[in-house]
Amino acid sequence: MYQKEKMDIFLKYSPGSPEAVSRGCTCPAAENNFGRGRSKNGVIEASFAADPYCTIHGFEVLFGIKLE
Ligand SMILES: [Zn+2]
Repeated sequence: MYQKEKMDIFLKYSPGSPEAVSRGCTCPAAENNFGRGRSKNGVIEASFAADPYCTIHGFEVLFGIKLE
């Protein structure tokens, strides 16, 4: 897959969302409120916990680094 396509999927599906998980996302779903974002003091923010090894949101897509 081309880098652009990977980035499109990265932007389209939030970490931990069912849509991302069904595509192989390994980011923590519960911590990300299933794609809605992490909550801070009970308020959901556009902030996500990502698994560096996630094939959608991991370092390879973000930084072009292939983790062993
Ligand atoms: Zn992910």
